[in-house]
Amino acid sequence: MSGQFEENLKKAESYLKRFRDNVTAHYVNGESFAGDSGRTFDNLTPVDNTSIGLVAEGSAADIDRACRAAQDAFPAWSGTSGKQRRKILNRFAGLVEQHAEEISLVESMDCGQPIRFMRAAAARGADNFRFFADKAPAAGNGLSLHQDEHLNYTKRTPIGPVGVITPWNTPFMLSTWKIAPALAAGCTVVHKPAEFSPLSAMVLAEISREAGLPDGVWNTVNGFGEEAGKALTEHPAIKAIGFVGETVTGAHIMRQGAPTLKRVHVELGGKNPVIVFDDADFERALDAVVFMIYSLNGQRCTSSSRLLVQNGIAGRFLAALEQRVNSIKVGHPLDPDTEIGPLIHPSHLEKVMSYVDAARDEDATIAAGGVLAGDLGPGNYLRPTLFSNATNAMKIAREEIFGPVLTVIPFSTEEEAVTLANDTPYGLAGYVWTADSGRGIRMAENLEAGMVWVNSENNRNLPSPFGGMKQSGIGRDGGDYSFDFYMETKNICIAHGTHRIPVLGR
Ligand code: NAD
Repeated sequence: MSGQFEENLKKAESYLKRFRDNVTAHYVNGESFAGDSGRTFDNLTPVDNTSIGLVAEGSAADIDRACRAAQDAFPAWSGTSGKQRRKILNRFAGLVEQHAEEISLVESMDCGQPIRFMRAAAARGADNFRFFADKAPAAGNGLSLHQDEHLNYTKRTPIGPVGVITPWNTPFMLSTWKIAPALAAGCTVVHKPAEFSPLSAMVLAEISREAGLPDGVWNTVNGFGEEAGKALTEHPAIKAIGFVGETVTGAHIMRQGAPTLKRVHVELGGKNPVIVFDDADFERALDAVVFMIYSLNGQRCTSSSRLLVQNGIAGRFLAALEQRVNSIKVGHPLDPDTEIGPLIHPSHLEKVMSYVDAARDEDATIAAGGVLAGDLGPGNYLRPTLFSNATNAMKIAREEIFGPVLTVIPFSTEEEAVTLANDTPYGLAGYVWTADSGRGIRMAENLEAGMVWVNSENNRNLPSPFGGMKQSGIGRDGGDYSFDFYMETKNICIAHGTHRIPVLGR
């Protein structure tokens, strides 16, 4: 065990102690709140599936309390000047940086993501806050639209209290990505974190108090989707729901929110193609292909889980890929050398393993992995897995596996690549590798995906729109797109006093 690994373990244990010793409560109206029912659930670490503490199991009554707090806090927060919101949210970003070690270590133990990625995720959380903080003063700005005898102008106002429901794959980063723009816009928030990974949400709620957010502006209720999450989507005080999670859950959210006419933004699953042409820069493409499916344990919405590789290089690329995949280091998430940690939960591991059976049943080749890393103990460790000899019709090519599992499919022409890439119910991201810039542009135009990267892995740009088409979601995050979701646009029309008004009954 390296010295750094040992130190990480020691530090993580000291940060986890309070979660082990006390029930992780909700955070409502500026206070820790145990919940009405007193019910709790066990939070397991994927490292060995032992409990790292009890968490309050939110009820509809708890959600109601949080929503009422958010409603009461809304007039003052939405009336707070943009400059003041900017100041508080920048302070928040600074505090995230100060707490980065705690956040990354706790998050790694809570969701199994390797510490090398969670350190970066903590920094990104601070970036998200800083980016939207700086936009707060201008969030309400609109357009000036002239007519001959009228002046129209638009302005944006915060929509009201909003609900944010997040998944377990990178809980801290995603929560900040959704909540920072809501607060910058002037909305108040009720956050329902994923039940598999609740801890960093509590650190965030505490930071909100330290940063000086007024009581009720930020509320967190833990618990299960079917109860706490559902109650949040149905609550009449909540005007919009920002959701990240599975496609089937997204459909539930829309259905549950319909009677109260909720505005919904759903960021859902994907089965993203990475298309490597014969003329691609081989080594760069290889690096990116490996990174985009095996980083973050493959539990990443934008992971490139389908590799479409052109026949001319398919054999060589697959051989190089096999070698790389077999060399990826699976291990404890706090080991700085670890590249793949344990999957979130035994039930998820079971789901991912079921695709190994599916690959066998469909006569695909298991070119690497497909087995548990049993030597690592009782955690949810899976060897990185590669399926070859696959077709796009197979289950392993059609369904989101959400693990470190790549399916490889050969193709011959550009047209065939487009057909295969688009032959999926999803439409989140696509990646293209080619030396031919014209082809890069044509592919980008033809792919049915909300985001396309040409000769790049997923590169993050905060002002750019992030989101998917088809079954991958509705709506976009990022820059002004986030404000459009969290704000109402009002048109104001003022006459010059010269136009003819239609006359009746004079
Ligand atoms: P999930 O849909 O099971 O759960 C997400 C959240 O929804 C959790 O907090 C859960 O408690 C809650 N929930 C469940 N049922 C609910 C209901 N009926 N009403 C209200 N809330 C409910 O998703 P997950 O398994 O936690 O996350 C993995 C999924 O998230 C993958 O499909 C992945 O692709 C997707 N994801 C998408 C993006 C994106 O930006 N498109 C980003 C990250 C993850």
